[in-house]
Amino acid sequence: MFDTFDQQHIWHPYTSMTEPLPCYKVKSAHGVMIQLEDGTQLIDGMSSWWCTIHGYNHPELNAAAKTQIDEMSHIMFGGLTHQPAIDLAKLLLEITAPELDKIFFADSGSVAVEVALKMAVQYWHAKDQPQKSNFVTTRSGYHGDTWNAMSVCDPVTGMHQIFGSSLPNRIFVPAPETVFDAEWNSKDIDALEQVLRTQHEHIAAMILEPIVQGAGGMRFYHAEYLRQVRYLCHKYNVLLILDEIATGFGRTGKLFAYEHADVVPDILCLGKALTGGYMTLSATLTTSDVAETISEGEAGVFMHGPTFMANPLACAVALKSTQLLLENDWQSKIHCIEAQLKQNLMPLASLESVLDVRVLGAIGVVELKRAVDVAQFQAACVDRGVWIRPFGRLVYVMPPFVISETDLNYLLGQMAAMIREMEQIYVAS
Ligand code: PMP
Repeated sequence: MFDTFDQQHIWHPYTSMTEPLPCYKVKSAHGVMIQLEDGTQLIDGMSSWWCTIHGYNHPELNAAAKTQIDEMSHIMFGGLTHQPAIDLAKLLLEITAPELDKIFFADSGSVAVEVALKMAVQYWHAKDQPQKSNFVTTRSGYHGDTWNAMSVCDPVTGMHQIFGSSLPNRIFVPAPETVFDAEWNSKDIDALEQVLRTQHEHIAAMILEPIVQGAGGMRFYHAEYLRQVRYLCHKYNVLLILDEIATGFGRTGKLFAYEHADVVPDILCLGKALTGGYMTLSATLTTSDVAETISEGEAGVFMHGPTFMANPLACAVALKSTQLLLENDWQSKIHCIEAQLKQNLMPLASLESVLDVRVLGAIGVVELKRAVDVAQFQAACVDRGVWIRPFGRLVYVMPPFVISETDLNYLLGQMAAMIREMEQIYVAS
């Protein structure tokens, strides 16, 4: 099941080259089933890290890729354009807030964040305020693995603390404490108000994930926090960048998580589910004001242009994926998944080893009191025919939206059983 060459030579995400965690070899994947090389079938609980919302090997997404591959797989975007990019841009601008009117296609979530940060810096430079070049963000955030994206991740839980002093120094405010469905505590916003009041002259933008802080802790915070952030950014002349890379395209129960708070960002980052889980692609959307100001500045252009910008294959599949989502009744599907997640996971909250259980949309999180042994947990998953990848103290699922009630029941039943097994060890120790 494990490949020796792979173990000895190929790096996997956040793993050691001397003591690599086991990596199971996948032969194929269809719908919500992942098939390992030895024939073992696993029900997918992770959507390949938020991406595969329609499941694997979807016939319509396959057809979109095949049709496009016969036209062209790639073409440079400098001086040339193509229909897949135009159609995808039209659709994305139509389904996001009307104020978002311009779009930049990039090649991964982290790059979409870099692009957003660069837009903010160029915007203030063009307004003759180059000193507005720093960023404020909340603790417990996560925005990617490239240099500037790392600099706005939580310095501790954001996995990049080792880079410490070599990263640009950003301003961090405490993460919002009031959880999604609790009563709003207005003290949550005080730290940000103080930072903006005293330092706004040096701040280009605030960046944060709307409602769900993902890889920085899987926290769901109150919509009023986001409303207050929007208000304060306006008040102190600071741009608001929302990173919807994990939350976009229905995952939280709204098409975009910022809709929970009814706010509009100045810059919006999309990725992950945008791709339908096929090929890497991301997008950074902004307003006419930001785009036109940048274009009228000293540089006269926006200074970014990756080789694989708006890759036609990725755009064609992303277009089909987004159309599929909108054509199907995604809201009631997410609603059903949410109800099933609540029913199966909430009872775990009474276990001694469990700190908290939370569910929002198609995201279910069990936060334990102790870190999980990932290798052991995943071996148990494979024995039980499910695929869940915990990190730290978090065991969580965000299944493909197409999962059937029966498969989801099985997935959650196995997840609960594994957590109950860990409870026995916790109680005994
Ligand atoms: N922002 C958020 C909120 C993310 O969850 C991630 C990926 N985990 C990123 C940015 C970075 O995206 P990518 O891995 O595609 O670079």
